[in-house]
Amino acid sequence: MGILSDKKILITGVLNDQSLAFGAAKLAQDEGADIILTGVGRGLSITQRTARKLPRTPDVLELDVTNPQHMASVLNHIQSKWGKLDGVLHAIGFAPSACIEGDIFNASWNDVAVALEVSAYSLKALVEGVLPLLRQAGTSSVVGLDFDASMAWPGYNWMGVAKAALESLSRYLARDAAKDNIRVNLISAGPVRTIAAKSVSGFSAFDTLWNDRAPLGWNVTDSSAVAKAIVAFLSDWFPATTGEIVHVDGGYHAVGA
Ligand code: NAP
Repeated sequence: MGILSDKKILITGVLNDQSLAFGAAKLAQDEGADIILTGVGRGLSITQRTARKLPRTPDVLELDVTNPQHMASVLNHIQSKWGKLDGVLHAIGFAPSACIEGDIFNASWNDVAVALEVSAYSLKALVEGVLPLLRQAGTSSVVGLDFDASMAWPGYNWMGVAKAALESLSRYLARDAAKDNIRVNLISAGPVRTIAAKSVSGFSAFDTLWNDRAPLGWNVTDSSAVAKAIVAFLSDWFPATTGEIVHVDGGYHAVGA
């Protein structure tokens, strides 16, 4: 019996099989969960194709997290299929190129507003959108994906600011969702070569640097450790942990040089 057996989990952010959420989706199924994926825009058909690479092909629902109608139909679909949700993975990030190229002066407020809405505010929108289902489960777990926002990184610029907002938001959500026994935690992952990561101009700087510096080493093409941490947080094995940010980065955050 797996640690997610009988759990119903909503997983966002599976674009292709390199997506951090794909590894989590596969492991969640291996651990016994029933899952539903979401996809967005032109990526939806890629998500549908990627879903077929999973051990059991899950439903794929359309969800642009900034679209309240999409959110409402996700709620209705899951309401009639399962009537509850035990867990949600928020694996959503996007910033216009002006936010992740050049320097911090490069982006206008219009660009920054998109980055903040899709990459930070969306955690609140997602939790709020499925709140009746999370309540129905009795206890539930929300997991989001972070990139350490305590310092400035090459090229990350306004995504870094959005991640700082996400970190703060996760603590307020943890405080205010606790009355419904909903836990909210973030995994602060080391760099993994995904479509989103490749759009960050400074990402290649991490290719060898992270592995050289992290006490446990790091492989930018292997997200299995991130998947394990996500699944652990979706399970019943962290019943008294909320508002937490756990680093899954080979220990990079703990060393100065
Ligand atoms: P990814 O495979 O490109 O996934 C990003 C996902 O966000 C895509 O499925 C994307 O869909 C989705 N998305 C973008 N805008 C959306 C919207 N408006 N509504 C719903 N979904 C939307 O990249 P990833 O690296 O796995 O990213 C997942 C999360 O991990 C992000 O929050 C990212 O910041 C975080 N993270 C990544 C790393 C890393 O190094 N890769 C490290 C730490 C944290 P479309 O592409 O179809 O638009």
